Amino acid sequence: MNSTDDLKFVRPRNELVATLRAKGITDPRVLDAIARVPRHRFVDPSLERLAYEDRPLPIGNEQTISQPFTVAFMTQLLDVHPGMKVLEVGTGSGYQTAVLLELGARVYSVERIKELAEEAKVRLENLGYFPERIVYGDGYAGLPVFAPFDRIIVTAGAPYVPPALTEHLAPGGLMVIPVGQGVQEMLRIEKDAEGRLHTRSYGEFTFVPLKGGKQ
Ligand code: SAM
Repeated sequence: MNSTDDLKFVRPRNELVATLRAKGITDPRVLDAIARVPRHRFVDPSLERLAYEDRPLPIGNEQTISQPFTVAFMTQLLDVHPGMKVLEVGTGSGYQTAVLLELGARVYSVERIKELAEEAKVRLENLGYFPERIVYGDGYAGLPVFAPFDRIIVTAGAPYVPPALTEHLAPGGLMVIPVGQGVQEMLRIEKDAEGRLHTRSYGEFTFVPLKGGKQ
């Protein structure tokens, strides 16, 4: 990022990071990652001026780029370390993918809307972000070919935890997934070394729904 156009967003982005810190995000690696990703490049140019407000924004196809606080909160819960293999369900704009890449993860991301998957891939590459795969597919099925994953993050509201995702989680792995109809409970599911699942809830959030099939 070095154009004058991008430089004008440095200050609003730093202010967003300060807002996230004030709202309780404490992991410096997550805050640093958010400070590095140019969120204004993940939305339509007509919405650029709103990109560093702590709110979701439309990205077309009735979908949204999640609120920065939600991205930061989920990423913090996910506890990603460099080299980890991470599955993201719901690529959307690719913003969360970029945050995970900034943390050194090897990211596999699945998106059920073809147009969004294709746009996100090009957008990420243009910004110098190279996920392992952006897959056009239905995240309910996970990604059997590339499983297991150290971490799984679901960025749409799931009516239940898809069994394929718990199957594709490595022993010792973590999954962060919002579950519920209408309003979702943020769940963190840990798979222990023996393959048993331990679930904890982290409050209520609202997401666009995790839908079945491809579009
Ligand atoms: N992570 C995204 C970002 O940073 O822009 C936010 C995405 S938006 C809140 C949720 C996304 O999940 C949408 O793009 C939607 O099409 C996608 N989605 C919904 N159901 C899905 C499914 N079954 N498999 C894959 N993607 C799905």
